Amino acid sequence: MGNGFRNIRYGYPQEIQDGKAKTPFKEKGVLAFLKIMEKENRGGFKLFKIAGIQITLDYSWLIIFVLVLWSLSSGYFPHHYPGQDIQTYWIAGFIAAILFFFSILAHELSHSLVAIHSGIKIPEITLFIFGGVSRLSEEADDPKTELKIALAGPLSSFALALLFLGVKLTLEEKQSSMFVAIFDYLSWINIALGIFNLIPGFPLDGGRVLRALWWWKTGSLKQATKVASDMGKGFALALMVLGGLQIFTGSLIGGLWFIFIGMFLRGVAESGYQEMVMKQALEGVQVQEVMIPEVVSVQPNLPLNRLIKDYFFRYGYRGFPVIQEGAVLGVVSLSNVKDIPETEQQTRTVAEVMTPISDKITIPPETPLTEALQKMIREEIGRLLVVQSNQKMVGMITKNGLLRFLEIKRILEG
Ligand SMILES: [Zn+2]
Repeated sequence: MGNGFRNIRYGYPQEIQDGKAKTPFKEKGVLAFLKIMEKENRGGFKLFKIAGIQITLDYSWLIIFVLVLWSLSSGYFPHHYPGQDIQTYWIAGFIAAILFFFSILAHELSHSLVAIHSGIKIPEITLFIFGGVSRLSEEADDPKTELKIALAGPLSSFALALLFLGVKLTLEEKQSSMFVAIFDYLSWINIALGIFNLIPGFPLDGGRVLRALWWWKTGSLKQATKVASDMGKGFALALMVLGGLQIFTGSLIGGLWFIFIGMFLRGVAESGYQEMVMKQALEGVQVQEVMIPEVVSVQPNLPLNRLIKDYFFRYGYRGFPVIQEGAVLGVVSLSNVKDIPETEQQTRTVAEVMTPISDKITIPPETPLTEALQKMIREEIGRLLVVQSNQKMVGMITKNGLLRFLEIKRILEG
């Protein structure tokens, strides 16, 4: 950047505002948190609603589905139940993969239903790659609830395993071998899912159990989360080492799977801790406490070349509210202007390119900060106008301002 004036004036290096380039360790947590929030809002396939909960499939699930289908149809079934034709294997693989998906959904739903029963709102379940890592939008307030929620998943997997085993044994009497094979596989995979999730490392259910017990014993959620996520990282590392060893001994695919799962878990264990720390920092803070109260605004009839020269360059902000006679008309930001050719910048005005005022770009002053952040991410905007119920604008809140707030709070509280 090389522009010392800007850095002094706004107190935050441009690299951090952009969220790229080399970031000092201290800022990493904040950025990781933002990234998680963005990921949480990136969507996926919305499937259906169960008990008021929207079930969404993360895009990564498609890859997993194809991998499971492929390894069942061309590996597992032909190996364990030889003598069938290819078509049969693929149909069996498809049925098994679908039921495997429903097994994971049942696992996640049992977490959610216990959570709802404890008074926690669960608007959506997003199914990620593995059963244990779908996100709930709120966390338990006390260790006992956390423990119950965490245990519900593995217990439901074991219950499903029993159910599928029952189906298998019933079918076996009637000797329809391929269906026996499918349910045999399903009962084993559910046992495996239950056991895998009980490994005591965050973000797996076992890690949550560990965290709940530690939290219960010490009373410190922060410390408990640190222990559980360290255990999680250790376990992830062990998986990766095991994967490496497998590759050396000739099992390439199996080894890659282990490394892949290990890397994924490590990432979640790391970000899970950061996320908790940040959520705690934001808790109980309202928009009006951190908003910019006196905002530089622009007139709607201002030509764009003046806007760029007198406002964007001069103040270094990325957006300004558009105000006429005390009334807010909208927001004009860099993204509204950047594609307008230079020749048109003299003749066109702010009013023509601005984002007109709507619920999308405004927020009431008493809104919790976490909600403001979620809204900015959801609407893909960097700022919100803080508007009272009588339509009067009282300030503005920006993503960068939020980052600064979090950083200052972190420094002060150590
Ligand atoms: Zn689980």
